Amino acid sequence: EKTLLDVTDLTFSFKTYAGEVQAVRGVSFSLEKGKSLGIVGESGCGKSVTAKSIIGLNPSKPKGLLKKGEIWFDGKDLAKLKEKEMQKIRAQEIRMIFQDPMTSLNPTMTVGKQIVEGILKYGNKTKEEAKKIALDTLAMAGIPSPEQRFKQYPHEFSGGMRQRAMIALAMAVNPKLLIADEPTTALDVTIQAQILDLIKDIQKQYDTSVIMITHDLGVVANIADDIAVMYAGKIMEYGHAEDIFEHPAHPYTWGVLQSIPPEDTSNREPLHPILGTPPDLFNPPAGCPFAARCPYAMKVCSTMYPPAYSQQGENHYASCWLYHKKAVRTVNPITERE
Ligand code: SF4
Ligand code: MG
Repeated sequence: EKTLLDVTDLTFSFKTYAGEVQAVRGVSFSLEKGKSLGIVGESGCGKSVTAKSIIGLNPSKPKGLLKKGEIWFDGKDLAKLKEKEMQKIRAQEIRMIFQDPMTSLNPTMTVGKQIVEGILKYGNKTKEEAKKIALDTLAMAGIPSPEQRFKQYPHEFSGGMRQRAMIALAMAVNPKLLIADEPTTALDVTIQAQILDLIKDIQKQYDTSVIMITHDLGVVANIADDIAVMYAGKIMEYGHAEDIFEHPAHPYTWGVLQSIPPEDTSNREPLHPILGTPPDLFNPPAGCPFAARCPYAMKVCSTMYPPAYSQQGENHYASCWLYHKKAVRTVNPITERE
């Protein structure tokens, strides 16, 4: 398959009065055409900043700085593009959707008009063609009576329908990549499942690549082909979704998996939360950033950053000293529990 996105050593900081926050610290991954990647981690781990760096959408206050890295997308290094060219990429080729649909939707314009304008902006469609695409896309997004909905304003839509309208707005231009940043976090469980199904259907139907950003590993279980587990601005573990769930290798991933509450309860509190807090990214530790919270930490962990060790799955890596050949073997609490 053809690689659509290839990110190498992405390093992004925010300059604040108190110093530089090293939000993303050397992240690399790639995404093939039509495939999906889940980027998972706690809030503040750098997952949203990673995604927004790709399309130059990080807020300018505090000042964001792309310090290093290459972002090859469809033959162009996005890290080198001017803002004007980036606007075109964001309008047509890489669309991003958010937890709050009103981040994308304009409250003063009907939903139909917004979608039509999006199609007309850079494309060569006629108004009639654009309207037809808009109606088809609203229907595809699971919005009943598209003709009627076309003429309505975002406030006339319910929360779940507004989420669908935002997805329609994004997909109407047939982007090559859809980035979804916690798209279902604010929704109740039933609607959350419907929206995730919709994103999965879209991915197949349009052959769009998807990056799904979430704090909830459960959300990407059925959507992502590959998963990157992030912590403190770095990728701790990377692999095919089934390897991450069946043979997780990194102690942080073990912690995340053990904290997922059972599905059959309404209590969504973490089962066994990971104790402690992530490190200060003004001054990140030299060694493994998880060392202060890791039950398996060894002496080396706090002094040297571990390399990415290859695991049993194809293209499966974990950055952890436990995989050094001289480390004492640790029982994997996920795969070896009785
Ligand atoms: Fe734990 Fe050390 Fe592995 Fe970090 S490198 S996750 S501290 S064992
Ligand atoms: Mg975020």
